[in-house]
This record gives sequence, C-alpha cells and structure tokens, in this order.
Amino acid sequence: MVQQSLSPRSRLYGPVFWHARTERSVMALTFDDGPCLPFTEQLLGILDREGVTATFFMPGANVRRESVLAAEVASVHAIGNHSFTHPYLLWSHPRKIREEIERAQDVIQDATGRVPDLFRAPHGWYGPQVISTANSLGLECVGWSVMAWDWTRPPAQTIHQRILRGSTPGGISLLHDGQDTDVFPEADRSRTIAAVPQIIESLREEGFSFVTVPELIWLDRHRQLR
Ligand SMILES: [Zn+2]
Repeated sequence: MVQQSLSPRSRLYGPVFWHARTERSVMALTFDDGPCLPFTEQLLGILDREGVTATFFMPGANVRRESVLAAEVASVHAIGNHSFTHPYLLWSHPRKIREEIERAQDVIQDATGRVPDLFRAPHGWYGPQVISTANSLGLECVGWSVMAWDWTRPPAQTIHQRILRGSTPGGISLLHDGQDTDVFPEADRSRTIAAVPQIIESLREEGFSFVTVPELIWLDRHRQLR
C-alpha cells in the first residue's frame, strides 16, 4: 500500500476504489440498498445457482429490519457499509458522517458477526470529509465503473445491455436489490433481479468471471509486484 501511494499512477487511481487495474477478465457485481424482501432472497438464489459471489453494500437501517437476511447475505458474499439511514453525506458535518458510518458498522456486526472494511457513500456522493472519515474508521471507499440507472426501473433488457456495454476487465457494476431505507417502502427491484441471470450469462460468454470487491482490491494491489 505504501508503494501504491508513492506511485505517480495513484493520482489517477484516487481515494475511491472504482476498478482494478488488471487485464484479467474479471468483474465484481455489487448490489446496494438491501437487504430487501423479496428481492434480496431471489438474488441470493440466482447467485447460488450460478455459483457467483458478489458484494453487498447495506444501509444499517435495512440490516436492522432484515437482520436474518443480512446474515444470510454475509455468510456467502462480501459486504460493505452503506451508512445507516442512506443520507446525502457530501455536505454533512464530520460528526454526522462518523455517526452514520459507526452506527451501520455496529448494526452490521450485530446481525452478521462481521465488521465491514468497505464503505460506499449513499448516492455515490464522495467528498474529502466522507472519504477521510471512512478511512479513519478503517474503511476503504468503493465506487463503480458501470451502472444501469436501475433505480429508474428500466426494462430488464435495458439493465442487462447497459451493464454489458460498460463491462471492462477489473470493473465494478452497480445494481440495487433494495431502495434506500424504509423511507421508501415501495421498492420494486423485480426488473433488476430479472436482469441478473442475463448479465451473468452474457458476461461469461464474453469470457468474464466474477470476483468480490475485496478480491478486486487484492488484484489491484498486487499488480505491480508481478
Ligand atoms: Zn444506495
């Protein structure tokens, strides 16, 4: 990591991890805003059938509401902190940012027995305060390299095509298995869930395999050692 920070390329890399610099045809599928029934349960079934391990960024409030499901997610997949109430943190006081992250850490640990070391800012709004606060709590900030605007609920085929078109070696896709927190109980992720098997199949046809975000970070960090 010291080598990484001294590398001139680290300027391009930035403080948010959004892809691994690798030529290997690997992608990390990430899912935000769950756990949320029935979608997360359906998604877990699909990933299990396909033998794919993904990464889930979960708001603490949702983990508290669906703690059994959160534990189920964490027993197979990589997990990350997605704040507690999913607010816009960009302009927030550092104390508020810290509270949001710490509260989520506590709830996620209680529910899953695991302490996340990844953080994704709600709405992807990263600022220096968000990044430095997350880092000070031992969390690596994670972004994405391709998304499908699936929260606008386009047809599954559109979600599939957008992810497929934007997929690159070392990339991170962003999809949603929930919607924010219980402020929006009308979450409908059926189109995203319907797109996932197509995404997996198409990417495999293009030679991709699937890794978690921690595995991608590992690939990136060890790149210069080879
Ligand atoms: Zn989110």
